[in-house]
Amino acid sequence: MRVPAQYTITQPLRDQMVKTLALEGVKNKSVLDVMGALPREIFLDLGFRSDAYKNSALPIGESQTISQPLVVAIMTEALQLEKSHKVLEIGTGSGYQAAILSRLVRRLFSIERHPSLSQVAVKRFESLGIFNVVTKVGDGTLGWAEQAPFDRIMVTAASPKAPRSLLEQLTVGGILVIPVGDPAGDMQMLMRYTRTETGFEEKSLGPVRFVPLIGAQGVPEAR
Ligand code: SAM
Repeated sequence: MRVPAQYTITQPLRDQMVKTLALEGVKNKSVLDVMGALPREIFLDLGFRSDAYKNSALPIGESQTISQPLVVAIMTEALQLEKSHKVLEIGTGSGYQAAILSRLVRRLFSIERHPSLSQVAVKRFESLGIFNVVTKVGDGTLGWAEQAPFDRIMVTAASPKAPRSLLEQLTVGGILVIPVGDPAGDMQMLMRYTRTETGFEEKSLGPVRFVPLIGAQGVPEAR
């Protein structure tokens, strides 16, 4: 990853953010190191850049949001990533979460339903010298059958339940992390599903709040 020199000016803000994440219970050093190195402001429109190191979700266009840093850290840590992993992300959005994942795994596939968001995210990956991310525009609830199976899948939007296609596209031992619950409600539950030889183990990781996962196996698109 090539971070342009001008961003060294915000390094103290990233250092402070990482300290806060560690105090909040994030332990994985690789996750903290990557988040400490990657300028979050690169993934925001100019008007929101001064808020980049607040622990809050921020608008990215198309009525969507970049997730708050603590949620990004918790979800990334929950995937228990290894450098050899092939990973699928649903909801490219600004590209921030994808850029973090790309530094921790072999290859990342990322799907976004809004073409405009996907295009801007791809430009950001190029400008940062990130070349192990493959993107497409489409309905991520269906997964990416041609590239399956995946060692890990992260969904960054909320669904009433884990989409069957995503569960089926996991390797045995693979992990899916996804916010599950009523996307119109105030909160959903962050869930982790681990594929076993015979089925799936599930674990609740705590309450979160996400925009809806819109698609065939998520929330139906409003007409
Ligand atoms: N990971 C993003 C980031 O780092 O900026 C956060 C994304 S935002 C919380 C959720 C994203 O999921 C939005 O960009 C939204 O358009 C996208 N999304 C919702 N439903 C989708 C679907 N079925 N397939 C692909 N993307 C979807």
